[in-house]
Amino acid sequence: MTQPVVTRFAPSPTGFLHIGGARTALFNWLYARGRGGKFLLRIEDTDRERSTPEATAAILQGMAWLGLDHDGEVISQFEGAGRHAEVARQLLSEDKAYKCFATQDEIAAFREQAKAEGKSTLYRSPWRDTDASSHPDAPYVIRIKAPQSGVTVIKDEVQGDVTIKNEQLDDMILLRSDGTPVYMLAVVVDDHDMGVTHVIRGDDHLNNAARQMMIYEAMGWDVPVWAHIPLIHGPDGKKLSKRHGALGAQEYQAMGYPAAGMRNYLARLGWSHGDDEFFTDDQAKAWFNFDGIGKSPARFDTKKLENLSGQHIAVSDDAALRQEISAYLGAAGETALTDAQSQGLEAAMYCLKDRARTFPELLEKAHFILASRPIDRDAKAEKALSSVSDGILEELTPQLQNASWVRDDLEALLNAFAEAHDTKFGKLAGPLRAALAGRAVTPSVFDMMLILGREETLARLKDATG
Ligand code: GLU
Repeated sequence: MTQPVVTRFAPSPTGFLHIGGARTALFNWLYARGRGGKFLLRIEDTDRERSTPEATAAILQGMAWLGLDHDGEVISQFEGAGRHAEVARQLLSEDKAYKCFATQDEIAAFREQAKAEGKSTLYRSPWRDTDASSHPDAPYVIRIKAPQSGVTVIKDEVQGDVTIKNEQLDDMILLRSDGTPVYMLAVVVDDHDMGVTHVIRGDDHLNNAARQMMIYEAMGWDVPVWAHIPLIHGPDGKKLSKRHGALGAQEYQAMGYPAAGMRNYLARLGWSHGDDEFFTDDQAKAWFNFDGIGKSPARFDTKKLENLSGQHIAVSDDAALRQEISAYLGAAGETALTDAQSQGLEAAMYCLKDRARTFPELLEKAHFILASRPIDRDAKAEKALSSVSDGILEELTPQLQNASWVRDDLEALLNAFAEAHDTKFGKLAGPLRAALAGRAVTPSVFDMMLILGREETLARLKDATG
């Protein structure tokens, strides 16, 4: 029987959930969820100066928005400090680690001399092979006994086999002189204790893997499967930065991208499944694997994000969209919809969701149902109304009063009316859009009439011509 998959996302809470972190979380989530495994969340809050509760909250919010649910409790790395120290002490007792009493000055002097002699400046502690009886009663750190010859091979699912010469590894510190564990030790102990089978993270951590493997091996623990994914670059091929636009995952919520579109886009950022661009969560879970992850950095492409967002909006359930739009308005700091507006929006959703790439675009099209009389008109709509169109709309009014209010009959009526005025329906549509919606970009005139109903339609025509 193969071992159940356990992945984790391990952000440091020093800021919001950035795009790169969100993608790492998504890859771990997809990998676990597609294999009936577990996806765990660990907050790496050992750096007390840089970690803040606000950042933890922002990360949790970002993950909640993206729908990346994790199993079990959120784990705090800091709270495990006692356990991390215990492992360092175990290695000490097994002679796989040692107490080093070197002072900062001694280490600096060692480095200077090595530099002057053109040798490696990796610190080699004289305490590595000393006997406890020769130890002073002074502060010490615990260092691991790194292998001094041979090689360490990181078998990486994305990068292939990465070989590091062991002579490049130093006896890294596990426990500082104040008894606190170092980050590198905490990660390994936590991953082991949490039963993590697959570590999927940014390739900026590839070098750490070699050092972390020393701890796994010293403890006799199974090394997890590594998958170090290339970072994300901006459209210009340079490392993604603020200069490329928004970096926080939640800023994309505030810009009005649906979470499903964002997930689809982030999954495609560095991973592919044949030529598939648009896919559902279920497809992504079924398809996601390491073979599809590219070796070179992915480029962020807003056009593609917009395109996928639009496709997800188009296939979303109307009630779910209504809810997501409410959440978007909150995130964007916009006024919430009233119940009546929200109900109207859902009723109109079928004719709004087709070509909107973002929620602001959808809401712009929804103006006819969200606004109330008298409808404000933008400049384009204003231009569509003239004394000529006023006359036409006035003439149309009595015919609409008597029409049967169903799509086919309304279409027949307006087409015949246009013909009688020696014009195409298209010419009539402009003033009608302006009168009914106060906007030039709207759903079809028929959809608006059907949704607004006869009374409201006629009242708006009157407002526009009156
Ligand atoms: N806390 C690290 C980071 O935010 C991730 C460490 C890991 O995934 O092992 O970059």
